[in-house]
Amino acid sequence: MKIANRQRTKDILQKHNIKLKKSLGQNFLTDNNILDKIVAEANLSSEDSVIEVGPGIGALTERMSEAAKEVVAVELDNRLIPVLNEIFEEQDNVSIIHGDALEVDFDSLIDGDYKVVANLPYYITTPIIMRFLEESSGAKEIVVMVQKEVGERMVASPGGKDYGILSIAVQYYTEAEIAFGVPSSVFIPRPKVDSAIVSLKVLDYPRAKVEDEDFFFKVVKSAFHQRRKTVRNSLSKAPFLSVPRDIIDQALEEVEIDPRRRAEKISVEKFIELSNAIYRIY
Ligand code: SAM
Repeated sequence: MKIANRQRTKDILQKHNIKLKKSLGQNFLTDNNILDKIVAEANLSSEDSVIEVGPGIGALTERMSEAAKEVVAVELDNRLIPVLNEIFEEQDNVSIIHGDALEVDFDSLIDGDYKVVANLPYYITTPIIMRFLEESSGAKEIVVMVQKEVGERMVASPGGKDYGILSIAVQYYTEAEIAFGVPSSVFIPRPKVDSAIVSLKVLDYPRAKVEDEDFFFKVVKSAFHQRRKTVRNSLSKAPFLSVPRDIIDQALEEVEIDPRRRAEKISVEKFIELSNAIYRIY
């Protein structure tokens, strides 16, 4: 059975009397070609365990269950749980979990390492990805559908308008790239935004040693608090840090960052050096 075509998707939804909810980011994939490309991008093999967030009616789940060892799919919408249970009744390697991706303990769902592959609900893309990066230790590779603009911010290099806190947070933990764009015509209903698949390969160790991660992210947030200001001004005025200006000056000098630079021109590595220097002096 192939779930991912327009007529079957409509039939399944109609049979169960389900109207899709915008508030849950429900845009279902109806194109097998795109599913094949996602599975190829994630390089799924019979060795792989996969966590999927938001299986919907299981189009991607079905395709992944043919390629991977096991798929554990976490769905919030209780109306979809009986549908999924029925579709995957005889599929031993698929587990459907009724839960909230913002609360589930992902590592407890699978023994050992896993890949995360999903067509994410766009209203919570960033918190879901950050939960995998910050709170789980099993996620080794994340291949997910996101809003194209969000994907561009994740992979952005210093210097452009897309580069910011999200780029630094994602690139601190992963090697990030946009795999391919996805047209809105392959979804039911069509989203109003463009989409893309991003591939995040989790680094064994973050890019460089950070003395204190909380402090590092406070420095980054402060630096971008008013992105048009110089890094010196942002850091000394932002509400998340209360470090005296002379210490900021000293740290900037130590790591050779021009105090008149703007945060958007400073690389992840340089931010790490800067936060370590402020942390040590302070
Ligand atoms: N995977 C399906 C597909 O590609 O056709 C559906 C993807 S749809 C973009 C997002 C799915 O995430 C929906 O099924 C929605 O109900 C589910 N969802 C929304 N919020 C969620 C949450 N907090 N935790 C788990 N699933 C959620």
